[in-house]
Amino acid sequence: MDTARLNRFISGLWDDEIVPQLVEYIRIPNKSPMFDPKWVEHGYMDAAVKLMETWARTKLSSLPGSTLEVVRLEGRTPLIYIEVPGTGDDTVVLYGHLDKQPEMTGWAEGLGPWTPVLKGDKLYGRGGADDGYAIFGSLAALLALHEQGIPHARCVVLIEACEESGSYDLPYYVDHLADRIGNPSLVVCLDSGCGNYDQLWLTTSLRGMTGGELTVQVLEEGVHSGDASGVVPSSFRILRDLLSRLEDPQTGTIKPKELYVDIPAQRIEQAKKSAEVLGTAVYDKFPFVEGMKPVTEDLTELVLNRTWRPQLAVTGADGLPPLESAGNVLRPKTAVKLSLRVPPTLSGAKAGQFVKQLLEKDPPYGAKVTFKLEKDGSGWNAPQLSPWLEDAVANASQTYFGAPAAYMGEGGSIPFMGMLGEKFPKAQFLITGVLGPHSNAHGPNEFLHIPTGKKVSMVVADVVARHYTQGAKG
Ligand SMILES: [Zn+2]
Repeated sequence: MDTARLNRFISGLWDDEIVPQLVEYIRIPNKSPMFDPKWVEHGYMDAAVKLMETWARTKLSSLPGSTLEVVRLEGRTPLIYIEVPGTGDDTVVLYGHLDKQPEMTGWAEGLGPWTPVLKGDKLYGRGGADDGYAIFGSLAALLALHEQGIPHARCVVLIEACEESGSYDLPYYVDHLADRIGNPSLVVCLDSGCGNYDQLWLTTSLRGMTGGELTVQVLEEGVHSGDASGVVPSSFRILRDLLSRLEDPQTGTIKPKELYVDIPAQRIEQAKKSAEVLGTAVYDKFPFVEGMKPVTEDLTELVLNRTWRPQLAVTGADGLPPLESAGNVLRPKTAVKLSLRVPPTLSGAKAGQFVKQLLEKDPPYGAKVTFKLEKDGSGWNAPQLSPWLEDAVANASQTYFGAPAAYMGEGGSIPFMGMLGEKFPKAQFLITGVLGPHSNAHGPNEFLHIPTGKKVSMVVADVVARHYTQGAKG
């Protein structure tokens, strides 16, 4: 393989076509169905699918024999299915998603979720990095191999539209397409993070998650707080009390041991190493306010907290008026949305049931307490890395980043990886991504670091080519 030529081809494609496509893609507010229940009516999801489909179709002629289908199961989000024939009978699956997180507040002046802005190396806007670039990066890799006549196994590109809602439609598609997908020995996923932009980061685990709406109701309607306080228990206070069953309010530690797993020794070793490589970047990649400190100073503990331990975030609230219209009222109810990350090897569904029972049992003062479970997804722990892949990854990181590869668990969740891991226990996984320091997927000022997008595309090309040679060797 001529790596300089590969570099030129992929960089050129990114500059000439992929970045302009992503600029248009960012304009489309195709929020995941959980954040846009009227997504069918709104048509944004279809617009995003159309954009990607149209571009991909212009590339099929350079990938002889390849086909593209937008698969639509009744009542479900669509899925883009691309098949690129290869040599031999092995299969590689390349996965990505096109649905987006909601807007979130706090975007800097001139930036916005649906406003693409190119500044230096960065393309700002929602969904470029998470995970709109995946279809482009995956196809760029395959196109680059074809441009040099380098053989690869049969490749299946799957782009779903439900990931940010927990991929609840995806299992149906995987069943529906099972025969066509085949039995992959390598899964490539570009939806993950990187500790920095200086080297290739391989994701070794992902957390699962569960969550839902916790509602505490104490009255039929709001009443004068001067009249009722001290007589009617506050729904806010009860909610606080209930949350303390789950989380220690002083330390943020999740209390029930049922929500923990034993962390494998190798993962603890890798956490120590990535803490060494990253130093204080483990926490100072976050936009802390002046004077604010992380949960602990121990860097390894921070890495383990965010990758192998359960942690809670309260992501929304209801029953509370905005501050400017808050009168002296003892409100009838308080509700919050809970997002609980769970360890990679814990069942998301079981964790959800456990939390529901924990929060609903013995409600203080007989208050009406409900926890409406909304989503659950199990995490994923990488199988033992095959020597060929370890080699390929080390080599690709040196070649395209000029630095050794690094291994780290991720705190986020990609439900599909758990599903695939169960379905194809023998598959190897190349999970990486461009979500590095300050890229802020899900928050304001999300950006795609373009040079990393290019390099990751090159790595995919290289690894897919080596996957074939290694298979050919037997
Ligand atoms: Zn994503």
